[in-house]
Amino acid sequence: MTIEALKELFAQSGLKFTNQRYLVYKAMVEARDHPSAEMVWRRVRGEAPAISLDTVYRTLAALETRGLVTRVPSGGEEGRFDGDASPHHHLVCLTCGRIEDFTMPGAGLGDLPPQLAAWGRIRDAQVLVRGICHACLGRTPENH
Ligand SMILES: [Zn+2]
Ligand SMILES: [Zn+2]
Repeated sequence: MTIEALKELFAQSGLKFTNQRYLVYKAMVEARDHPSAEMVWRRVRGEAPAISLDTVYRTLAALETRGLVTRVPSGGEEGRFDGDASPHHHLVCLTCGRIEDFTMPGAGLGDLPPQLAAWGRIRDAQVLVRGICHACLGRTPENH
């Protein structure tokens, strides 16, 4: 995405374009590992040494409010974020915390039970599958 397109996207979302917000969003779009705010902070510090962790938190919250990033309800202590706003689902390993994407037909908004319409306006829906990944299952106790 070009800077011009991004400026346009921020403007449409009512978000002032700043270099720090740009770098945080860019790091999120490039990330495939559903990083925490602290991981994003470490990634953008190279280009923006003055950026604080608090700014990264607030930027992620602002992007989340506008639907530009999503928060993955991984259940861990740290919030994890996703720069891929296209509809998809998540596999969460409760041991190593790794989050992977998957897609599943029949799990979209159009597949929700019609009675949910009585609850309110639905923005998105996702399936969260949690368990222990193969890499963690294969570990012997000595390796922990
Ligand atoms: Zn694992
Ligand atoms: Zn994802």
